[in-house]
Amino acid sequence: MSERSSLVRRMPWPESASRPVGTPIQPSVVYASPDPDTLDAQYEGRVAGYAYAREGHPNADVLARKIDQMEGAEGGLVLGSGMAAVAAVLMGLCKSGDHVLGGDQLYGRSLRLMREDLPRFGVATSLADPTDLAAFEAAIRPETRLILLEVVSNPTLRVADIAGIAALARARGIWLVIDNTFTTPRGFRPFEHGADIVIHSVTKILAGHSDATLGYVAARDEGLMTPIYDFAVTTGMTPSPFDCWLAERGLYSFELRYDRAEANAEALAAHLAGLAGVTRVLYPTRPDHPDHNRAHTLLGRRGGHMVSFEIAGGRAAANRLTRAAPDIAFAPTLGDIGTTLSHPASSSHRGLGAEARADLGISEGFFRVSVGVEDVALLCREFEAAIAASQA
Ligand SMILES: *Cc1c(COP(=O)(O)O)cnc(C)c1O
Repeated sequence: MSERSSLVRRMPWPESASRPVGTPIQPSVVYASPDPDTLDAQYEGRVAGYAYAREGHPNADVLARKIDQMEGAEGGLVLGSGMAAVAAVLMGLCKSGDHVLGGDQLYGRSLRLMREDLPRFGVATSLADPTDLAAFEAAIRPETRLILLEVVSNPTLRVADIAGIAALARARGIWLVIDNTFTTPRGFRPFEHGADIVIHSVTKILAGHSDATLGYVAARDEGLMTPIYDFAVTTGMTPSPFDCWLAERGLYSFELRYDRAEANAEALAAHLAGLAGVTRVLYPTRPDHPDHNRAHTLLGRRGGHMVSFEIAGGRAAANRLTRAAPDIAFAPTLGDIGTTLSHPASSSHRGLGAEARADLGISEGFFRVSVGVEDVALLCREFEAAIAASQA
């Protein structure tokens, strides 16, 4: 070894006339530019280049461009979680004195951000039922700056009046933000229905394998995206390159997984509806769903990969059901490649209290299923056996 060799210095990357077919992972936090003029040019957008990973890195950008394609967006941003995306939008765009109006069945932490955190910064918030246009309109205030909605609610799968609310928002110059996690761009493309901003928890079915925590946000207008980007970078909502790599890999099969999971969900809903002990089945495209007509107009035949149902026998029967189905993960998530089961009364909606849960129709026998891509005959058999055991 020559005296001048140093292990501290980076080795040049081996040259290769060929290119990798798989997406490379780039974990580098810092990027070396040739000179200050080039760095200026990078920051001014005259040349492409990375500087510091908190401000952006290639794996996040590769993933963001793919989700952009699906949503018909440009310049979307991948962040460290779905909640990072929700927080970056609400806190990046709103200021003290503004009012934010949300759907009353938003994701639990989105509700918490609205109830507990935004008011500490002088942003007023309230909730209204987005399936009831008159009630929603009545909740709009002169200082309402932003409306946050999910298309299909958790866990009762109610379908929001997106067309009606988008018209109200447009007429008043209020930003309409849609968290499209449940519906996915395969089921619904919010920018085609008047949304100004679209959010995803990429953690769920987009990444699809319960091994990466990520979020995504895109805006119709670049002027909205800049403050969201700056807030996210300042507060460190950076995604891990490895998670981005996993999610981008997951997207290769997203359309196949979604279509299969959706077909399974529709078939499972039909099967559940015929079982003794099942008191209710909720699936948006079923004729007995409370928002069936709106689901048909908004989603067509795309009912999605979530099914909810209720069994007789309360908590004791619910305990028997999960124990009788050990191969179906009883876990408070959704969008995994395999079927998972959640029990809102003991997880996502435990903080609500029994009375508020009853108002939403969430009893102790209520389950939400995130349907996976298994053979549907196996799924039907497993649920049939578990429900029979629950009623024994
Ligand atoms: C999971 C979820 C979120 C939060 O996403 P994380 O990646 O867990 O932070 C937000 N909205 C909806 C609808 C979700 O299902």
